[in-house]
Amino acid sequence: HHNSMTYKIERRTRTGYDLLTNKRSNKGTAFTLEERRRLGLEGLLPAIPVTQTLQVERSMRNFRRKEHDIDRYIYLMSLQKRNERLFYKVLLEHLEELMPTVYTPTVGEACLEYSHIFRETRGFYITPDDRGNIARILGNWPEKDVRLIVVTDGQRILGLGDLGANGMGIPIGKLALYTACAGIPPQQCMPVILDVGTNNETLLEDPLYLGVRQPRLTGEAYVTLVDEFVAAVSQKYSRVLIQFEDFLSPNAFALLDRYRDQYRCFNDDIQGTAGMALAGVLSACRMTNQILKEMRVLFLGAGSAATGIADLICSALREAGLSEEEARDHLWFVDEHGLLVEQRNDLAPHNQRYARKGLHQDFLATIRHARPQVLIGASGAPGTFTEEVVRLMAEINEQPIIFALSNPTSKAECSALQAYQWSDGRAVFASGSAFPPVNYEGRILQPGQGNNVYIFPGVGLGVLACNASHVTDEMFLDAARTLASCVREEDLQRGSVYPSLSQIRDVSLEIAMAVVKRAHAQGLAQEPMPENLRETIATMMYDPTY
Ligand code: NAD
Repeated sequence: HHNSMTYKIERRTRTGYDLLTNKRSNKGTAFTLEERRRLGLEGLLPAIPVTQTLQVERSMRNFRRKEHDIDRYIYLMSLQKRNERLFYKVLLEHLEELMPTVYTPTVGEACLEYSHIFRETRGFYITPDDRGNIARILGNWPEKDVRLIVVTDGQRILGLGDLGANGMGIPIGKLALYTACAGIPPQQCMPVILDVGTNNETLLEDPLYLGVRQPRLTGEAYVTLVDEFVAAVSQKYSRVLIQFEDFLSPNAFALLDRYRDQYRCFNDDIQGTAGMALAGVLSACRMTNQILKEMRVLFLGAGSAATGIADLICSALREAGLSEEEARDHLWFVDEHGLLVEQRNDLAPHNQRYARKGLHQDFLATIRHARPQVLIGASGAPGTFTEEVVRLMAEINEQPIIFALSNPTSKAECSALQAYQWSDGRAVFASGSAFPPVNYEGRILQPGQGNNVYIFPGVGLGVLACNASHVTDEMFLDAARTLASCVREEDLQRGSVYPSLSQIRDVSLEIAMAVVKRAHAQGLAQEPMPENLRETIATMMYDPTY
């Protein structure tokens, strides 16, 4: 009875105009003449109905005519608010071109400016004042069936540091990628910021800053607020998956340890990055005819990214029959103070398991001594893969594998061109942000972009498809293997250890299937295995086509 009442009220009040102003129903100029007559839209639209394809074309022209990156960002965000299906159609069909706007680097600029370019609210804000009331205020969110939350506390936004509540741009951007790349329905997605204050003086003094104007909550007060949030959303939305994003490394590790066995959650900076990088190493092995078990890997940087990658490589090596200790013996870490060794007393908890026995050395000495085939930069320190470093790698290896993952390209440990020039064109190179194609002595090389977007959307889709109770490292392991298997000969030919972004939906589907299978093998799936797994997942995927 209640339902039919609300239905009647809706029927009475939903005018054609409402359809145009609701982002979910709006098709703009694509409403057909018949629809215009039937839905009360006559007179409200220009005369000529157009196809969605033409709307995509017009949107891209509008997008491209903007002079500044930030204006392109604002344009896309308002398209998302105006006509959701068109936004996702545009994003999906022009992912390569739009990725740098929706995500790094422009999303970073947008976060810096978030309080300045603010037009209308989106996402969900939780502050210290909400303590004790989080479950209640969640009732204000308009969607009842939330399946996916991306949450940050804004303390380490990309390479930009503490941006406080301005970090909201990150969950919004990541969730847009989830929908575009893995078809998670937008109504199931909830961007969340834990606005626990900021230590950024510039923001605290900015009259336009919209976040909580106090120093960051720390210690017990911080952790218990996050506890309340995680418990409240998991209670209210029984199928929800929580992705932690852009927390400061010590908090990232501590929160992941605290929640991973209790809730359906993961940390993308640690685990998603790991999946992406391991996939890159696996397909680099294909190029160089080596196997993972033989590889020695040296990391520059020992934070969330490097440690996450190392943990996953260890899982892979253990599955290949090595002991934990043997696996760790394949890995070296150098941070700004040199090699991680046991005698150092300045190591963070997550560094300790990778501290080696032996002498403290600098970066070059470690390369000489460890003779790694793989060098992975996750330091945020630009230019640290110097000519000497790359030449040394190329002296030790026929085809040195060199990943400069720090974002954006201005932070990369070396550029694509440098990696090729200094290795006489022999390096297998990948970077965190895309470099333009390189013409190396007549060969056009387009190295791969180690973007987490190859991993997290597919993992999320798989976890949601089988309602896995937990997210495990083994799922990321299979996601990495699957991603590597999606790399085609022609990708390798152009020097890329990753597939083209235009294949992303297929890649996400493959990864989701692998994750579902692993969830079943691990006894974590809470949905029966469907007869036709591919078809079942494919039909779950949101299609933005009208
Ligand atoms: P983090 O702050 O947790 O870790 C940074 C680490 O680098 C620390 O161990 C620090 O000691 C070390 N470091 C700093 N300066 C150094 C120097 N000059 N030489 C050697 N080591 C130095 O950060 P994180 O989350 O691990 O991210 C690190 C970098 O990796 C960032 O630049 C980020 O853009 C990049 N990253 C890329 C991807 C991707 O490409 N998909 C994903 C995650 C992180």
